[in-house]
Amino acid sequence: MKLNEHEKIIIVHFGELWLRGQNRNVYIKKLASNMREILYGEDIRIDRLYDRFLIRLGRDADLESIKKKLGYVFGISNFEIAYITKPEIKAICSLGEEMLEGLDGKIVKISSHRTYKELPFDSIEIMDKLATAAKKMGLSLSNKGFDVELRINVTKDAAFCSCEKTSAPGGLPVGSSGKGVVLLSGGIDSPVAAWYAMKRGVEPIYVHIHGYSSTDEALKSKIPEITKILDRYSPGSKTYYLPSHIFQLGAIKAGRYELILLKAFMLMIAEKIAEKEGAVMIFTGESLGQVASQTPSNLAAEQNGVEMPVLRPLIGFDKQEIIKMAKQIGTYELSILPYKDVCSINSKNPKTYTDIGRMKLLKKETKLKSIVSRTLKSGYISE
Ligand code: ATP
Ligand code: MG
Repeated sequence: MKLNEHEKIIIVHFGELWLRGQNRNVYIKKLASNMREILYGEDIRIDRLYDRFLIRLGRDADLESIKKKLGYVFGISNFEIAYITKPEIKAICSLGEEMLEGLDGKIVKISSHRTYKELPFDSIEIMDKLATAAKKMGLSLSNKGFDVELRINVTKDAAFCSCEKTSAPGGLPVGSSGKGVVLLSGGIDSPVAAWYAMKRGVEPIYVHIHGYSSTDEALKSKIPEITKILDRYSPGSKTYYLPSHIFQLGAIKAGRYELILLKAFMLMIAEKIAEKEGAVMIFTGESLGQVASQTPSNLAAEQNGVEMPVLRPLIGFDKQEIIKMAKQIGTYELSILPYKDVCSINSKNPKTYTDIGRMKLLKKETKLKSIVSRTLKSGYISE
């Protein structure tokens, strides 16, 4: 790899991936391909240098856009905007001094780290020389309460100087934990649950049950807009749109159990789609006790008969915590727009305790299996 003197680059660090033993390279390859996909269209090249990626910027590279997109890539713990020089003390100090000159009026921390130890100088020497230069320039130095950190990293092939570091979401690269079906509503919670599933490496397949009379209407709703935001983190995910009318007609008998039966119906649909898509988990945005329908017995009853694990990443979250995350993820403003969710149609005064035997009986009486297969036949997949 040819590195140009004083070339401006982005260094990408992948924290947790180092814990992954023998599979490490599989995770790193996945991360590289996800980065390429998310940064598609940007004028860049991605190279790997030991335990980091270097993003080389082309002439037309839009740095702000690239930085924004890197913030969507799970598996990256942080990234730095850096300049390159030779792994020689003179070159490092000269670049470091040049960067210090731009930090006038700031309190500066200087740190240095050698990844390659077989060099005739050490980190202390670099820091001492740069500290002396900084004092001559009249800069204040401090390891606590500083405004900017000038970070030097020396490898065998090159040294990097950076004073801009940005946190990224961490976690594992999307797809490295296989596929999962996410039951996606128009509400605040399920997009956040999808985000947490993706954060742990799950490639999402969204399933939405809509109350419209046609797929066209569902596709004009806010749901595709929500999946578009979630696509920033995992481009090109599939969404299944399925109508609720077959269920609505069949479930009239369920009375105050209708909402629990609707959830059971959704989980059965999700399981069938998961099997077809090679997914092994189902995710929902439920959190214990958040609404009357989300009691322990209701959660147990709705998933009775579903063999696939039903995971609820938000189970211990307070609503305020979920809202804060939804704002960060970018789905909140869409989620609060009015929407005729099938759950809100059915949610008047639901039972807070559901006996599993009672649930089994209701499923039989309403012929829920047949409702599921008929609904699956009238679904639509958006890719
Ligand atoms: P959310 O904010 O995600 O809608 P909620 O607090 O409104 O959640 P419910 O309406 O009871 O709670 O929904 C619980 C979960 O059921 C949702 O998080 C989602 O996973 C699933 N769900 C609800 N409505 C739908 C729907 N129309 N299509 C698919 N899944 C749904
Ligand atoms: Mg809801």
